[in-house]
Amino acid sequence: MQVHKLQSNISDNVLYVLEDDGDVLLVDPYDAKQMISYARSMDADRIRILTTHGHPDHAGGNAEVKAALDCDILASRHDTQFNVESDEQIGEGDEVTLGGTKLQIRHAPGHTAGHIVAYTDGHLVSGDVYFVGGAGNCRFGGEPGELFRTFTERLADLPDDTVFYPGHDYAEKNFNYCVEVEPSNAEAKRRLEALEAGETETPVLTTLGEERSYNPFHRTSDESLQERLQSEHSSLWKEASGSPAEKTFRVLRKLRDQY
Ligand SMILES: [Zn+2]
Repeated sequence: MQVHKLQSNISDNVLYVLEDDGDVLLVDPYDAKQMISYARSMDADRIRILTTHGHPDHAGGNAEVKAALDCDILASRHDTQFNVESDEQIGEGDEVTLGGTKLQIRHAPGHTAGHIVAYTDGHLVSGDVYFVGGAGNCRFGGEPGELFRTFTERLADLPDDTVFYPGHDYAEKNFNYCVEVEPSNAEAKRRLEALEAGETETPVLTTLGEERSYNPFHRTSDESLQERLQSEHSSLWKEASGSPAEKTFRVLRKLRDQY
């Protein structure tokens, strides 16, 4: 499977086109005009749309792309919030065949209740669940406890060498945030410095293993991170519910919302 990445011309979305042997999936083709012309240039045998979640900056291009390319829309059957129009509803445990590739669909709620992601060996289409150096927000139909369980349970078994494809590139702000909440994390500092020095390709793509080493949202079981947040942000800590790891996630999410 090949993954083509395009920077949207009309927003900060990163657009992905997955392709295997003439079979094409347009992931969240919000920038419809760009996606339509890119897809037309591919000489594909079949084109479909894969919608990770119902937010307008992800599903909002579907109708225009479908009208232009006459392609089917695959969208989450777990979604009860956004009523994304679809030709096929997919969700946890389903497999989508793309040429010779089998994409495993997972339900990954928290950014929205119905969010889905797609995984195959070495690749994860993560929508707005995972960001480089960050996590999806929970302000538009999401819930931080759900997102915490997506990080620590639902997707925790995915291998370290998985490259993931987030819907936006927020790396610069996120790296600054990582250093701010965890100044002792040398890996976060190194990444920020490399980005600022222009040594990093954009959009920034990383593996889950890398994220697990420096991104605090993946490191909520780290006791020194827990202790630091508890002492520096004691009132947020007291308000947050759940285990120390879940409290850590909730406080990190709140702080990032205000950052
Ligand atoms: Zn979103």
